[in-house]
Amino acid sequence: MTGIQERILSLKHEKNAVILAHFYQTMDIQKIADHVGDSFELACRAQAADESTIILCGVRFMAESAKILNPDKKVLLPAPDAGCPMADMVTAEDIVRLKKQYPDAAVMCYVNSSADVKAECDICCTSSSAVKIARSLSEKRIIFVPDQNLGAYVASQVPDKEFILYQGFCPIHHHVSASDVTAAKTVHPEARVLIHPECRSEVVKLADYVGSTSGIIDYVKNSADREFIIGTEMGVVERLKRIAPEKNVYLLATRLVCPNMKKTRISDVLNSLENDVYEITLPEYAIKGAFKCLDRMVKVQ
Ligand code: SF4
Repeated sequence: MTGIQERILSLKHEKNAVILAHFYQTMDIQKIADHVGDSFELACRAQAADESTIILCGVRFMAESAKILNPDKKVLLPAPDAGCPMADMVTAEDIVRLKKQYPDAAVMCYVNSSADVKAECDICCTSSSAVKIARSLSEKRIIFVPDQNLGAYVASQVPDKEFILYQGFCPIHHHVSASDVTAAKTVHPEARVLIHPECRSEVVKLADYVGSTSGIIDYVKNSADREFIIGTEMGVVERLKRIAPEKNVYLLATRLVCPNMKKTRISDVLNSLENDVYEITLPEYAIKGAFKCLDRMVKVQ
């Protein structure tokens, strides 16, 4: 434990704060976090938090979700410019337009979206819950925003519904190709291929397992196999090396690194605790509207 990590742990106690970190955060941050998880787990932890302050080590939409689910708490985002390009691809105005175009459809949004967008949608989902949530809806038609790849994967699993897919994408996962999988399999022919559904369908089709970051981690931990090619952000590989050192894990492609997720440095977490920055504030209408959307997701679990 470094001096800065020790200082964070003592200040966290003094200030009655809880630190939540996404799997894509660097390992020095994951080590001082109270909870490390995927978007869904972090949202649930934030909603259940008793501490007066929540430090969210991730990107902006995650900190916004924490604020929406537990609005009386102070929610701090240590790196204020850590956003998600996919979340920025859709606006509340886009949703209003789509609802007019398809008035009989339910609107389902991936958690990677702004509070304003969530406030206009019927129900939220994460990559781990999307299929279950789509099946739970009574509407036959579903508008899915913003990720076209997760939407296409859900549509393939829920064939009795019609999906209108918004054309957003994650710049990190979308640029992985089928030839990346073929190349990795050539080097590691015995490895199982585990793919995040934010990847394109040509990649998903080659997977032995498709799932969220938590799903991929659990698969590796519980599998009798020894070797795995990991088709999601490199933070998952780092975490697996720590928690399952007996397994061999290989990153599918070296470009699977999210620069926004790496914006938070351990010094930013300390600064956040010392100076109470950077606080997430949202207008009342966004909190109320987005709460319905997120809370409905949590209740379907
Ligand atoms: S990995 Fe992709 S979806 Fe996740 S925060 Fe980065 S850009 Fe957004």
